[in-house]
Amino acid sequence: MAGAVASVAEPAGPGGAPLGEMVPMGVPVGLGGLGRGAGPTREVIRLENVTKVYRNGVLSVAALRGVSFSIDEGEYVSIMGPSGSGKSTLMHILGCLDVPTGGRYWLGGEDVGDMDEIALADIRNRRIGFVFQQFNLLASMTAWRNVELPLIYAGVGRSDRRQRAIEALERVGLGDRIQHRPGELSGGQQQRVAVARALVGNPDLILADEPTGALDSQSADDVMQLMSDLHAAGRTLVVITHNIEVATAAERVISIRDGMLAPSVQVSGDPTAHPAPEVVR
Ligand code: ADP
Ligand code: MG
Repeated sequence: MAGAVASVAEPAGPGGAPLGEMVPMGVPVGLGGLGRGAGPTREVIRLENVTKVYRNGVLSVAALRGVSFSIDEGEYVSIMGPSGSGKSTLMHILGCLDVPTGGRYWLGGEDVGDMDEIALADIRNRRIGFVFQQFNLLASMTAWRNVELPLIYAGVGRSDRRQRAIEALERVGLGDRIQHRPGELSGGQQQRVAVARALVGNPDLILADEPTGALDSQSADDVMQLMSDLHAAGRTLVVITHNIEVATAAERVISIRDGMLAPSVQVSGDPTAHPAPEVVR
């Protein structure tokens, strides 16, 4: 799935394009740009009755069967479910790598349902930073070259790109590894480079698919700590996982079974305290 970063998008204007005009149902917008930290929250994600049917010849599989939820700016949400429950399908839709068969999906107020390939590549590049289980770094490129890639697609100038890539690597604690290639870094460090790459374009959403799935437990803890730090800094995070420890590190767990949502669980306060889960919907 290198396509998520390798897709060439039309350059967004400086500072990113304005929010789309299609804003679902009274969502407070108008914060301008990302608007983190102050003022009313806005919805980053809204799904209404999303379905996805895969058709292969005469066979069809209903992978998502009417999924509705929303995620506000600054939330840290995990999407958890067993194998075959529809997580990857949902991740592809949330990540604008695929479109629903039915229902509607707004990302940052933009209706994704009507978009063609070029528009999808554009919204992906402007609004989403991806983190994958297998890091998806380019082996021949140094850490900072990997991190600057989304900025190339966004049309950012060379010196600005280098500066921002180095700053993103510093933010994930790798300021002393900018010239290392992936093969010269540990798994945990490679995943932190991938997180820096996800951050560098200042996206509305960081979307991580099993981000610790390929890591030893110490590196996994480091990456989870980094996710918590990003949340504390006001980022909107969605983590897709089958791992309950990874899932419950988030503020809210959205559970999926057989392509439908099970009741969500609000994880309040200190996730290490394992509070009694409160069913919120
Ligand atoms: P998960 O990531 O939770 O394991 P998936 O989203 O990959 O679940 O799959 C959900 C269901 O959709 C499964 O029954 C799977 O076999 C089916 N599915 C996934 N991708 C395809 C596809 N491209 N074509 C047909 N069926 C698919
Ligand atoms: Mg999957």
